[in-house]
Amino acid sequence: MTKFYKYLILAIIYFTPFILNAAELPKHESLEQSIKQTIIDLVEDNAAFTSLKPDEHFQGFLDIQTPRVTMVLCSDSRVQVDNFSNGAENDIFVARNIGNQFITTKGSVEYGVDVLKTPVLIFIGHSHCGAIKAAMGDMSQIPAGIRKELDTIDVKSAHDDKQGVVVNVHYQVDKAFEQFKEKVESNQLAIIGAVYDFRNDYGYGNGQLIIVNLNGNSNVSDIRNSHYFDNIKNVAIGVETKKTASD
Ligand SMILES: [Zn+2]
Repeated sequence: MTKFYKYLILAIIYFTPFILNAAELPKHESLEQSIKQTIIDLVEDNAAFTSLKPDEHFQGFLDIQTPRVTMVLCSDSRVQVDNFSNGAENDIFVARNIGNQFITTKGSVEYGVDVLKTPVLIFIGHSHCGAIKAAMGDMSQIPAGIRKELDTIDVKSAHDDKQGVVVNVHYQVDKAFEQFKEKVESNQLAIIGAVYDFRNDYGYGNGQLIIVNLNGNSNVSDIRNSHYFDNIKNVAIGVETKKTASD
């Protein structure tokens, strides 16, 4: 028996590193494999795209872009331009950052509005926004670079992140309105604030784009009565974010 235990202990000492390595290796290989597969997917998806597009497809915008919309969108991967457009190419000039902010992407927005002269500027927040949740919480543990980006979000008046998403959109529209007031008042530009609700947090259904602000005005009746929204079907305007007993 003594000999058996001696061999058993030696076997454990000898094989344990291999067992541990074996346990770690698949994870390591899996991450490498995941990176490789992601790169393959990007390359192959681009190849599929080019195979579907004849050269003539690109001819119209080889030397100039003519978008109609400047869009400020959160970087969240669950929110994509395709969710609002059947053809964003050469039509939507996009600036993205965490929290769909004007201030941190001001130069890009100015380029869209003042240089490309898009007549519509839209800020789109979204349900379950991590940037809003972070800005409403304790930011002391957040890395400095990210904290700096979140510093320009002001959602102090919100009682939860669902309301915070909307408050932030209003705030961003207000900041943009200060910048582009003349253009708005001379009807060269409409600034729209919206929320993309992939979770159905606001009750219009999953994936709905909800208009919450027009040129700094968040009054639902005013927005609905605006000539910009005349005869638009299936438009969702306004959200109910007041605190209720069930909150
Ligand atoms: Zn977000």
